[in-house]
Amino acid sequence: MAPSDQNQSGARTLKEQLWDPVAGFGVTFRTMFRKVVTEQYPFEKMPTAPRFHGRHQLNRWPDGLEKCIGCELCAWACPADAIYVEGASNSDLPEGERFSPGERYGRVYQINYLRCILCGLCIEACPTRALTMTNEYELADDNRADLIYEKSDLLAPLLPGMEQPPHPMRLGSDEGDYYRGAYAAPVVAEEPRDEASREAPTEETHA
Ligand code: SF4
Ligand code: SF4
Repeated sequence: MAPSDQNQSGARTLKEQLWDPVAGFGVTFRTMFRKVVTEQYPFEKMPTAPRFHGRHQLNRWPDGLEKCIGCELCAWACPADAIYVEGASNSDLPEGERFSPGERYGRVYQINYLRCILCGLCIEACPTRALTMTNEYELADDNRADLIYEKSDLLAPLLPGMEQPPHPMRLGSDEGDYYRGAYAAPVVAEEPRDEASREAPTEETHA
C-alpha cells in the first residue's frame, strides 16, 4: 500500500504524531509574549479619534440662549430621515423673552438613533453651528423609545454664566450682534478625555 493510501485510511506518520502538536503550541507560545491589544470595554474606555462622530449636541450662546433657529435644514439634509424639528416663533413668547436670538427657535427637536448612521451631513447643513457631534458613542439601550433623543437630551448643559432660556438677549440688542461672530463658543478648560467628560460634553465639538 502506498504512503498516501495509508494517510487516506487514517494512519498517522511519526511526524504528524510528534511534531504537529509542538508546532501548534508554538503559535500559542509566540503569542504569549506579544503586546496585548484586547480592550477591556466597558471597564476601560479608550479615547476616540478627535473627529469621531458620536452623539449630537445642540449648542448655546454664552448667555444660555439656544443657537438652533428651528430652520429644519438638518432634517432635510439627513439621508436617513432621523431628525424631526418643529420650529416656533420667539414673538409668541412674553415680551422680551426668547429661546434663541433669531426670529424662531426649535420648539421640538428629536433625533432617532435607531435610524441615524452618524454620517454628519446634518451638522454640515446647520447654518448657525447649533448642531455638532460629540465623541460620545454609547448609544445602546434596551428599548426603542429611549433611542429617540429629545431636545432636552441633546442640549448642551448650562455653563457658569449661562441662564436657562427663555430670557432676553444678554449679549446685544439684536440678533446680528450674535451672528457677526463676536461671541465664540464658551471656552472650557481642556479636560482629560475620560468617561466623565464624555457623559457631560460642555463644549461644541468638531464639524
Ligand atoms: S448624522 Fe447623518 S443620519 Fe444621523 S441625523 Fe445627521 S444626517 Fe441624519
Ligand atoms: S440644528 Fe441647525 S439646521 Fe437644525 S433646525 Fe436648528 S439651526 Fe436649523
